[in-house]
Amino acid sequence: MAHVLGKATINEFEATISGAVIKPGDTDYDAARRVWNGSIEKHPALVVRAASTDDVVRTVQFARSEGLPVAVRGGSHSIAGFSTCDDGIVIDLAGLNSVEVDVEGCRAIAGGGTKWKEFDAATQAHGLATTGGLVSSTGVGGFALGGGIGHLVRKHGFTCDNVLGVEMVTADGSVVHASADENSELFWALRGGGGNFGVVTKFELALHAVGPTVMAGVVFYPGDEAAQVATGWRDLLIDVPDELSTIVNLTTAPPAPFIPEEWHFKKVVAVVACYAGEADDPDAERVVKPLRSLGTPIVDLLGPIPYVDLQQLLDALWGPGAANYFTSTFLDAMPDAAISTLVDFHQRSGDLPIQEELHIHHLGGAAITGSDATAFTDRTSPFVLNCITRTPEATQLAERIEWARGARDAMAAFGNGRTYVNFTGEGGPDKVREAYPPETYARLQAVKDRYDPNNVFRFNQNILPSAS
Ligand SMILES: Cc1cc2nc3c(=O)[nH]c(=O)nc-3n(C[C@H](O)[C@H](O)[C@H](O)COP(=O)(O)OP(=O)(O)OC[C@H]3O[C@@H](n4cnc5c(N)ncnc54)[C@H](O)[C@@H]3O)c2cc1C
Repeated sequence: MAHVLGKATINEFEATISGAVIKPGDTDYDAARRVWNGSIEKHPALVVRAASTDDVVRTVQFARSEGLPVAVRGGSHSIAGFSTCDDGIVIDLAGLNSVEVDVEGCRAIAGGGTKWKEFDAATQAHGLATTGGLVSSTGVGGFALGGGIGHLVRKHGFTCDNVLGVEMVTADGSVVHASADENSELFWALRGGGGNFGVVTKFELALHAVGPTVMAGVVFYPGDEAAQVATGWRDLLIDVPDELSTIVNLTTAPPAPFIPEEWHFKKVVAVVACYAGEADDPDAERVVKPLRSLGTPIVDLLGPIPYVDLQQLLDALWGPGAANYFTSTFLDAMPDAAISTLVDFHQRSGDLPIQEELHIHHLGGAAITGSDATAFTDRTSPFVLNCITRTPEATQLAERIEWARGARDAMAAFGNGRTYVNFTGEGGPDKVREAYPPETYARLQAVKDRYDPNNVFRFNQNILPSAS
């Protein structure tokens, strides 16, 4: 039975909040309850748009006193829909989006609801950046807490590697800080363990000199050259510097003006690259050059580009509202058999407007160091595959999910079977347990026991308290 909040109770609570409290029936309730993934249909009892850390504290205390579950929302891009819930309270952090840049100290303090677009704008004003999302509407919050793979990953590590400290509201409404020197076990867990331990209201992130113009972009090749392109790419990676981060995307060409019209709606391979440095570094052109001749390019869009534009290059293709499912698997290697499996699934992918993609991210470099310094799932695999299906209507998604799961299962044979918690369309305790090495999961559970023994924060890749 859903717990119904009385009008007087809501009014009393609302009077303590400096942000906005949105209730069913309010004109903006429908927009406020929705998340990026259009297949998620949830109806929270309240959405609290927090304007301060105090608002978060009061909301957590209120939810606990009413016995209501809490969902925390950063950028709302969780594929599984973790940042909303039925009959509970959503704490929407979008208003906590200020970014203060310490140029000398090469660090930034970002509010817990900051989006990458906001973060990049503030930091790139000083020629600085940290590893961030490939789509700029994604939130720093969920991204950094689960890991964070972006164009700078091989040079500067996962986003979680760049977290220097946090301010966090715990399940009992306390405000704690975590860093290497303070609450260090919590600090370890937060970097890869997701939103399990509390509401992060501030992130302190390390910054690096990047751009502001970088050598980056995409080269598109015909889909029937997928095996040749993927093989050439794999062989090239044996000897590339950490500055170069690349992704191979087996996809279908959208009807976008930058792709020749005769290729629209046809299967293609997109090789996405970024050289993390300055575009006029003589090494930049030399290092990206072989990516231009992996097959017969349809269009070569690799060149100097402002880093901020690179970060927003894909935004138009990934707007909110469509139904989405992601699933992933880490890969130990890409033998020829793995490439033929990928090519086979690519050929069987749906046609637009059903959008189905296989992204193979090259990891390694800085992402491989510090194996147990954070709770990140997997430091050993040189690749992670993300299998994506996206349909205009939620009703179309169910029948396409099998394609994505089939690709993941077939490819899991080439890795340790673990998944990346941020690329996941489903939760469930068993799936989460399997995502981490057993010793990492046990350590995460000990931190969960200490900071959230009643599992107040359960809408995430949930680490179960040991007593449950
Ligand atoms: C279009 C798109 C592109 C993506 N691209 C990439 C990519 O390039 N690389 C990559 O690694 N991943 C990528 N992802 C996956 C992304 O990392 C996850 O979806 C991530 O969880 C999104 O974070 P969010 O804050 O936007 O999401 P939300 O849905 O707001 O939150 C996700 C989870 O994090 C928790 N959370 C969020 N903020 C906080 C906070 N401040 N304190 C405590 N808990 C919090 C939420 O409770 C929830 O459990 C992408 C996803 C999408 C939809």
